[in-house]
Amino acid sequence: MANAPEVVRTASEVRAGVARARAQGKSVGLVPTLGALHEGHLTLMRRAREECEYVVVSIFVNPTQFAPGTDFERYPRDLEGDVEKAGTAGMDLVFAPGVEEMYPPGDSTFVEVTGPLVECLCGPHRPAHFRGVATVCAKLFDIVAADKAYFGEKDYQQLLVIAKMVRDLHLPVEIVPVPTVREPDGLALSSRNRYLSAEEREAAAVLYRALSEAKSRAEAGERDAAALVGAVREIIEAEPLVKLQYAELRDAKTLKTLGRLDRRAVLAAAAFVGKARLIDNVLVEAATSPSAPEV
Ligand code: AMP
Repeated sequence: MANAPEVVRTASEVRAGVARARAQGKSVGLVPTLGALHEGHLTLMRRAREECEYVVVSIFVNPTQFAPGTDFERYPRDLEGDVEKAGTAGMDLVFAPGVEEMYPPGDSTFVEVTGPLVECLCGPHRPAHFRGVATVCAKLFDIVAADKAYFGEKDYQQLLVIAKMVRDLHLPVEIVPVPTVREPDGLALSSRNRYLSAEEREAAAVLYRALSEAKSRAEAGERDAAALVGAVREIIEAEPLVKLQYAELRDAKTLKTLGRLDRRAVLAAAAFVGKARLIDNVLVEAATSPSAPEV
């Protein structure tokens, strides 16, 4: 059994812990989370543990990434349980700051990625969300000064936004993507799955089922984006407990919209299931089969 991690509340305590690790020549990893840790988060932590000699997990329900009237207040919080789980994943330090530590009273500085990456998918539905995420990650990267930071592909757009911020600002951290961890029926693990009733939980699996079906059609040769997205819509809309918000096929790097599947793409969807807004995505490759010979 791993030792219990050190738990700290302030940036200066984190810097002191990291400085001690650096003095011993250790590499440093960071796993940023909102807490309510589940197997998805633990997979990120174990990956960080494998690749870095000192690993910090941050647990902070970041108010600036929640729109007013959404689930900031009721977002699940369980620091004690989280610290225990972080210990089982071999974390060295848990950084669990209060809001005033991350946002000193009177602060007025934000980091905002602009342009196509934030103007599609979740961007228009969650104004200021990515600004909040980029701002808190910039602060965490500065406080921890990690060599590598780990992000889940489940939040695919977030991953691209953070990677862009890191490039644009020359931040000295490597962003490591980690594949989505799923329940046996395919539902992506999410802290928000706790909001689901038993019936809703069962219905929620339709999200991945629909994305997987479209991916199979792409693998079988379907190239038309409207047909692929139409398949996702049709399957999700047949489930009365699930209200689709969007389903889209986009370039996996730039998130540019695609009429045809002619490159690596992401098929992404968001839907409300009861009180929970859930997102999911699958990566889809363009065909590698040779084109038919001209006759
Ligand atoms: P959150 O606490 O939901 O903000 O998630 C913290 C980190 O864990 C983010 O990088 C997420 O993308 C990642 N994450 C959340 N759920 C999963 C999952 N099911 N599989 C892989 N990574 C995940």
